[in-house]
Amino acid sequence: MTGDRLWLPYSQMQTAPSPLLATRTEGVRIYLKDGRCLIDGTASWWTACHGYNHPHIRDTVSRQLETMPHVMLGGLVHDPVITLTERLTKLLPGPLNRVFYSESGSVSVEIGMKMALQYWINQGVSGRTRFLSFRDAYHGDTFAAMSVCDPEDGMHRLFSGALADQVIVDLPRTPDEAAALGRTLDRHAGQLAAVIVEPLVQAAAGMKFHAPHVLATVAVLARRHDLLLILDEIATGFGRTGTMFACKQAGVTPDIVTLSKALTGGTIPLAATVATDAVYETFLSDSPEHALMHGPTYCGNPLGCAAANASLDLFETEPRLVQVSAIEAQLRHELADCAGMPGVADVRVMGAIGVVELKGRPDLGRLRERFVEEGVWVRPFGNVVYLMPALVIEPDDLSVLTAAVRRVVGAR
Ligand SMILES: *Cc1c(COP(=O)(O)O)cnc(C)c1O
Repeated sequence: MTGDRLWLPYSQMQTAPSPLLATRTEGVRIYLKDGRCLIDGTASWWTACHGYNHPHIRDTVSRQLETMPHVMLGGLVHDPVITLTERLTKLLPGPLNRVFYSESGSVSVEIGMKMALQYWINQGVSGRTRFLSFRDAYHGDTFAAMSVCDPEDGMHRLFSGALADQVIVDLPRTPDEAAALGRTLDRHAGQLAAVIVEPLVQAAAGMKFHAPHVLATVAVLARRHDLLLILDEIATGFGRTGTMFACKQAGVTPDIVTLSKALTGGTIPLAATVATDAVYETFLSDSPEHALMHGPTYCGNPLGCAAANASLDLFETEPRLVQVSAIEAQLRHELADCAGMPGVADVRVMGAIGVVELKGRPDLGRLRERFVEEGVWVRPFGNVVYLMPALVIEPDDLSVLTAAVRRVVGAR
């Protein structure tokens, strides 16, 4: 087929099976050129929270495309970016009032890390050049983001020699682990700019969950050591865990938060790094040196901002969080049987995330093929089979997904 010259993400091109040719998407369905139709259990890497092709987002973006697809944000602004900024800062807790835009999650993490470094530099504090992050973390594929990912994770281990040396520890799930984190911070606090963590769900490195009190402990310890707290809500933001943002469940307000993935409802690449007023104020001075030296070419792209505004409209006009709790109940019920299967290590559900963790190292190629044979788009990675469907999925379609998971996992 054509497309032989494409270099695909995370793919061993020599052995990966030919990708499927998609021609159309609608709701929770992906239509293929060969006439097959798959029910999507992943919302295209967790982006399409309202389903594909939602008419409200499509119409809003089409109108924006006719008037102004893009204009540089240097010296110019526009209504979609002003409106989105107002809305995001109203939705986020506390004084998270300063929004910087980029086009991908990884870059929004880079920007958050850069803000944290410069927060100290601008105050004349030197030596705070490192970050504390957690095992099983995933924060992106660019270099600073890779340096705070799980160091053992196969994805980035290869580059360890080229990455900044960060302090990477276990999440403080128990009192002993909290005490250990406290001691680590005692030792390293003077070298650290910030602590970075994915709140409640460590997604792409293994779909591991932690309780709100664990996140609260991280926040308390970061404060106690006078460190900034960066929450990476790229996967958890916009309702996925049952609240608009996961940090709300722990009553934690970070100093910096990163958003992307579902920000535009899975239509246009856009990301945001949002800082508190207190962080922002350290960048204000008479000196150009104190300005945040970052400026993506497509910063605040109007199409992306229009799509994000339309997506936020839908969170206001349609009962997304109610739908999430219905999905959660159904996932709990319909995945429960998997817990007793011989190949299964764990079954867990949080919000619209259902995870079946397998024993050993499964043959991912074979598993993925089996799901397509079942008529569903489910993409296991590592040792997890997971469902993160659109938040609008109908109960019957969700049952098709969970039945496929039971059959494929049960046959191992
Ligand atoms: C996906 C993801 C990223 C990276 O986002 P990209 O848009 O792929 O660069 C970073 N952090 C978390 C928590 C993610 O889930």
